[in-house]
Amino acid sequence: MAADIETVLAAARAHCNEVIKPNVDAWNAAGVWPRAASDKAAALGLTGLYAPEDWGGQGLPLGEGIRVYEELGQGDGAYAFALSMHNICTFALCGYGTDSFKQEWARELTSGRKLANFALTEPQSGSDAGKMYSRATLNGDGTWTISGAKAWVSLAGEADLYFTVVKTSDQPGHKDMAMIAIPKDTPGLTFGPRYETPSYNFLPLSEMYMDNVTVSEENIILPVGQGLQGSLMAIDIARVSIASGCCGLMQSALDTALAYGKGRKMFGATELDLDGIQWMLGEVATELEASRLLYRAAANALGTPEGPVMAAHAKRFVPDAALKAANTCTQVLGGMGLLKPYGLDRLSLLAQMLRIVDGTTEVSRVVIGRALKKRAEGLEALPVPKGFGES
Ligand SMILES: Cc1cc2nc3c(=O)[nH]c(=O)nc-3n(C[C@H](O)[C@H](O)[C@H](O)COP(=O)(O)OP(=O)(O)OC[C@H]3O[C@@H](n4cnc5c(N)ncnc54)[C@H](O)[C@@H]3O)c2cc1C
Repeated sequence: MAADIETVLAAARAHCNEVIKPNVDAWNAAGVWPRAASDKAAALGLTGLYAPEDWGGQGLPLGEGIRVYEELGQGDGAYAFALSMHNICTFALCGYGTDSFKQEWARELTSGRKLANFALTEPQSGSDAGKMYSRATLNGDGTWTISGAKAWVSLAGEADLYFTVVKTSDQPGHKDMAMIAIPKDTPGLTFGPRYETPSYNFLPLSEMYMDNVTVSEENIILPVGQGLQGSLMAIDIARVSIASGCCGLMQSALDTALAYGKGRKMFGATELDLDGIQWMLGEVATELEASRLLYRAAANALGTPEGPVMAAHAKRFVPDAALKAANTCTQVLGGMGLLKPYGLDRLSLLAQMLRIVDGTTEVSRVVIGRALKKRAEGLEALPVPKGFGES
C-alpha cells in the first residue's frame, strides 16, 4: 500500500523545522552538501517518493508527492530542488531501467544511501538542449563508451549516479539521443572546479567531464530515440516540483514579514496596523494561494496531454511570484530586511535561481505560446479586413 501523504508531509515539515531551518546558514557557510541531513530525509522516506513500494519507495502519485517540496522549500529551496531531482531520477530508474540495473541501484536510491542527479545541460546548450555534443558509441561487446562535457551539474561529485543525456550518432536532431546512468566511480568521469554562487553554497555545482567512460548496456535508462523526449517529461516533473518549493519560499518570506511587523512599533501602533503594509502583504498572500492552486493542478496533470503546458504555466508564474514575494517582504522589514539573520536576502537569491533552473521563465513562455498557437488552429478564423492580412 502506498504511503499516506499526510504522514509524509508531516515528516517533511518536521525535517524542515528540526534540520533545515536551524542549519541552513551553517551549511551555506561551510559550502558542503549536508549529507547527514539528506540521510535523515532518507530515513523519513523522502528519497523514494514516487518509486514503487516493491523497490523500497513510498509509491505516491506525482500529484501527491510533489507537495513535499512545499514543506522543504520553507526551509531552503536549493535543498528541496536537489532532493526533487534525486526523486525524479529514482522514479525514472524504477519505471524505465533494466532489471539488472534496478536490482543493483533501485533500493540504494529509494533508501537515500546513494544519491542521483540528472545531467542534460552542456556548456553550449542550456535552453537549446538539442544542440548537444556528448557522444555515446556502442562497442562490439554491448558496452557504451561516452565522451563529452556537461555543465551546471547539481550535486556534482556528491551524487553517486548521474542520469546523463547523450547523442549516439552524427545525425542532427534528437532522434539518436539516449539517457545512460553513469556511476560516480566510473574511470574517466571527473568534475571541474565548483561554480562560485552568490548563495545556496552547500549545493555543489560544476561541469562534468566524460573521457572515454565505458558502461554496460544495462545502464541505459532511456533507449536511443527516447533520450530527449524522456528528459522533457522529467523536466516537466522538475518544473512543478520547483513551483512547489517556491510556495514554501513564499510562505517563509510572508511569515518573516508578519513576525517582524507585528512587533515593530511605529506611528503609535505596529507596522502591521498600517493599511499600506497590509495591502503589500495581502498581495503576497493572494499570489501564494494562486501559486498553490496552480502547481497542484499542474502536478495532477503530469502524465496527461495537458502536463507539459500546465508545468510551463506553473514554472512561468510561481518563481516570478516568489521573487516578488521575497522582495516585497524585504521591503516590509525596511533596513532590517537587508540583514542576513532575517534570511530574506537568501530567499531573493534562491527565487532568482529557481526562475532559471530546469527551463527558464522565458522558455516556459515559449511552451505556452506554442500551445496557444495550437489552440488557435482549432478556432474558426475571424475575418481580417482587406489589406490587414497581407505582409
Ligand atoms: C542552480 C542551478 C542548478 C542546475 N542544475 C542542473 C542539473 O543538475 N542538471 C542539468 O542538466 N542542468 C542544470 N542546470 C542548468 C539549467 O537547467 C540551465 O541553466 C537552464 O536550462 C538555462 O540554460 P542556460 O543557463 O544555458 O541559459 P541560456 O539557454 O543561455 O539562456 C539565456 C537567456 O536566454 C533566454 N532564452 C532562451 N531561449 C529563449 C527563447 N526561445 N526566447 C526568448 N528567450 C530565450 C533564457 O530564458 C535566458 O534568459 C542548473 C542551473 C542552475 C542555475
